[in-house]
Amino acid sequence: MQGENEEKMDPILKSDEEWMRRAIHLSQAAVEHGNEPFGAVLVKDGTMVFENENQIYTAHDPSFHGEAGLIRRFCEETGVTDLREYTMYSSCEPCFMCSGALVWARLGRLVYAAGNRDLEALFGREGCDCSRLVFEHSAHSPEVTAGVLREESLRVLRAYFSEHPKG
Ligand SMILES: [Zn+2]
Repeated sequence: MQGENEEKMDPILKSDEEWMRRAIHLSQAAVEHGNEPFGAVLVKDGTMVFENENQIYTAHDPSFHGEAGLIRRFCEETGVTDLREYTMYSSCEPCFMCSGALVWARLGRLVYAAGNRDLEALFGREGCDCSRLVFEHSAHSPEVTAGVLREESLRVLRAYFSEHPKG
């Protein structure tokens, strides 16, 4: 009974946090696999359809980010090229390249945890609203929710980049 009430409270927020927890888990897994701490999950109609973690070092592909890599792999495997009905959860705000990929894939909704400014602050830099800048100047823009489980994502980022300086 209590469970029923909880579900009625805010199912969307609860769901966002659930998926984001998975994306952050993937960001940690990426580190364990020798890559950088970023993960992304693709959801449609309340079901996860794909997930990906950063693979830049193990795939020898500097563009194999969580989000861009996910789109490449998912679209290649399924033949889907229009993600208007999909939501992507990313452990960190998509960079310029990945935001561009989200535009070309016509992603319906983007949810991210830590922002680019949070990430860049770890290196003593200001950063910018990179995804917003790309979306603002593009013909297609996903609906965006920022800051979901931001602190949890930052904990993984901070732990990694305190030991691995970024160029
Ligand atoms: Zn990226």
